[in-house]
Amino acid sequence: MWGNNMELPKTRRMGVIVEPKVAEVHEEPIGEMGPDDVFVKMLTCNICTTDYQQWDGKRNHMGFPMAAGHEWCGEVIAVGDNVSVYKVGDYVGPCGGRCGHCIPCRMGQPTGCTAPHGPHPIINGYRGGRGFSNFSIRNQDELVKMNKLIPAHLCSFLEPLSAAINGMRKLRAQPGENIVVVGAGTMGMMNALAAHAYGARVIITELSDKKLARARDLGWADVIDSRECDPVEKVFELTDGVGADAVTVCVGLTAAYNQAYKMLKQSDGRFLLFSAGHPKPEMDMDPNEVHYRRSEIIGTIGADVQDVALAAKLINAKLVDAAFGWEGVTYGLKDLQEAYKHATKPDMYRVTVDLQDI
Ligand SMILES: [Zn+2]
Ligand SMILES: [Zn+2]
Repeated sequence: MWGNNMELPKTRRMGVIVEPKVAEVHEEPIGEMGPDDVFVKMLTCNICTTDYQQWDGKRNHMGFPMAAGHEWCGEVIAVGDNVSVYKVGDYVGPCGGRCGHCIPCRMGQPTGCTAPHGPHPIINGYRGGRGFSNFSIRNQDELVKMNKLIPAHLCSFLEPLSAAINGMRKLRAQPGENIVVVGAGTMGMMNALAAHAYGARVIITELSDKKLARARDLGWADVIDSRECDPVEKVFELTDGVGADAVTVCVGLTAAYNQAYKMLKQSDGRFLLFSAGHPKPEMDMDPNEVHYRRSEIIGTIGADVQDVALAAKLINAKLVDAAFGWEGVTYGLKDLQEAYKHATKPDMYRVTVDLQDI
């Protein structure tokens, strides 16, 4: 039986990128709720870089029309018979789109899903996470509980923080290590927050006044204005001539990759390629140098289930304040086109969409 007696909606309003630069709100049937499903009244969804770059025509990773959106938070309004962890009134966030049946999904690694359609099949002609919807039915396995005392737009940072956690876990961040975060955009800030949560000393390099100010607001990071000094020299100065134990590059630019590699300590430095760049950046890497310096080059995208769980714990316990990644503006779902325009402007942090303002 449903968790309450209210009449559940049969259709939903859903934000769709129909072609580059054009976002519309469409209507589609929600479908039937099964015994393992949770009916979610969607509250907020933040616009990810992957969303607005698709809107902007800079990438096309899902085709059109794309029912974008995966950085959302919602409230449970009904639950299926087999659902015990979630109850009506809970806040929930997404724990990965996945087929749930392939080996990587069973291993808790939905980013590696090998289903022919990937984690997002085409339904009603649309592919995507459908985060920009006013209602949603989700399998209980694809959810994680969020703290209701934290505003929904900040709970919506679950996915970007979990990606940063995945990176820090692969980087094997240790307490007291010197970790350089290159770039203080949204994902740079999430990397800095994750590295700090792992107990590392965080050094941030950045070029933009707005982002430098945001990084300094953290209060615990060493912040380097790369326009005013040689950031490589500065990193060595800050680390008593040793260099960084690890760097995470959160800007998809050739100069950032090349500069970041030089910041590493002479031996056994770890280099995390957190961001891709569009158009594709170059990387000037000498294999012999990687060999002799025993460097590690690590790539990452997305998050595994354990990363989402840890990100939820950190946000819910207020050990991470995701507000450092928020631009401070909210648009109604009905104004999704305007929201995309805002999110695409230079130097933006995450822009929020209010999913009940349809
Ligand atoms: Zn995202
Ligand atoms: Zn799968």
